[in-house]
Amino acid sequence: PENRCEKASILGKRRRHLGPNLALFFEDDPLHIVRGQGCEIFDAEGNDYLDCVNNVSHVGHAHPRVVSAVSQQLATLNTNSRYLAEGLVNYSEALAATMPDPLQVVYMTVSGSEANDLAWRIASAAAQHLPPPAPAADAAQEACGKRAAPAAVHVAVIDHAYHGHTSCCIDLSPYKFKGPGGGGRPTWVHVLPCPDVYRGRNLDGGAAARAAIAEAERGGARIAAFFSESILSCGGQVLLPDGYLAAVYREMRGHGAVCVADEVQCGFGRVGSAFWAFELQQVVPDIVTFGKPCGNGFPMAGLVTSGRLAAAFSNGMEFFATFGGCTAAPACGLAVLDVIREEQLQANAAHVGAHCMQLLSELQADHSDVVGDVRGEGLMIGVEIVTDAASRTPAPALARQIKQHCKLHHRVLLSSEGPYSSVIKIKPPICFTVAHAERMVGALRTALESFTTLSPADKAALADASGEEVDRIAARHSRLS
Ligand code: PMP
Repeated sequence: PENRCEKASILGKRRRHLGPNLALFFEDDPLHIVRGQGCEIFDAEGNDYLDCVNNVSHVGHAHPRVVSAVSQQLATLNTNSRYLAEGLVNYSEALAATMPDPLQVVYMTVSGSEANDLAWRIASAAAQHLPPPAPAADAAQEACGKRAAPAAVHVAVIDHAYHGHTSCCIDLSPYKFKGPGGGGRPTWVHVLPCPDVYRGRNLDGGAAARAAIAEAERGGARIAAFFSESILSCGGQVLLPDGYLAAVYREMRGHGAVCVADEVQCGFGRVGSAFWAFELQQVVPDIVTFGKPCGNGFPMAGLVTSGRLAAAFSNGMEFFATFGGCTAAPACGLAVLDVIREEQLQANAAHVGAHCMQLLSELQADHSDVVGDVRGEGLMIGVEIVTDAASRTPAPALARQIKQHCKLHHRVLLSSEGPYSSVIKIKPPICFTVAHAERMVGALRTALESFTTLSPADKAALADASGEEVDRIAARHSRLS
């Protein structure tokens, strides 16, 4: 009861002092967490929860090596990047060493949003050096003898993407501008349909890119940048078809656009078989943006680009971010890179990820009616829940029930993603172990078993129930069973 009072008090203050659109996980019964270690977080009563969705605490919550590097630096000196400091150049060198040529120039920011915002500024600066796109035939006739106006710079993104919360990044994020409170697609943004490998839709990247380019050119504009993740997270943990990005990049570059890989979620060894997820697609981006995992919880992010683009951006205006590359950031970033290497966490992501996929495939075989698809690479995994295998209709209500069950009965924290919130997302710290994988999939199994024992009427009601109805059905069911 004391804990309930404490929770109520925090909730009360939260409602008074924090914005109402700041979301809370498990809103009906939020967790009051006080400590983290490795892949677990602990609530105020000391209960351990398995954290299966955290790509910030990448090498484990409160990793002692990272904590010590940051706190020692904070206790010594933490100031901006305008002084000579070994840490910043050493971190930039270490990061560049993970990248293919010609990606060797690093800009540090504080958040992934800022990194993408900056990538857009660099791409727009580079576009200033390009000739305007060829006008359509009738426009060319009309313009004959007149000097063409410089083309407006546009951008292309993949549907359902999220690239950040600044004004510019909201415009780059269909996940936001198409959703509640969003203003719809800005005219300068062109959206490639999200490839849906499971349902066999929109798989041709080249065709999608050509359509976006044609749309921009019809308006006399040029696409200056194409932004995408290399595994689509908000899109529903979608693995791109082989050759997809290569085809998009080819079209975009033919048109003069810069290709940006947003590795904010999937970088730093998470995908196991590669350090960066763009490597899975065998492409070399022009700009790679990174964030969340690089600081293991310390706010730092940035981008890596080529000397050519850095020179185009260097137009006389200084680039400066007070905390971007401040002394503590590289100290932290170097410790994270050391831990990934020394604890062989990329190989761990590959090994434990493969084990998760095996366990999840067995689960799918036993529940093939509702587990529509299991997909992933390393520890970036999605489990798509459907109403039935034949129609492949997304089942967000059931996905929600599964998440609630796992939290309530097994203290396993999962989340859902995708255009319909019907994909259970799994992206734990990459120190996740085989034992953790077994605990997680065991929880999913009992959740699914409890669903299969529901009455046909409850099953039907669940298929398109709202959140509250799901909870009512689940509560009635747990009383019955
Ligand atoms: N890009 C992607 C793919 C992200 O997932 C996020 C954050 N969820 C961002 C960019 C923005 O990062 P931040 O919240 O650090 O600004």
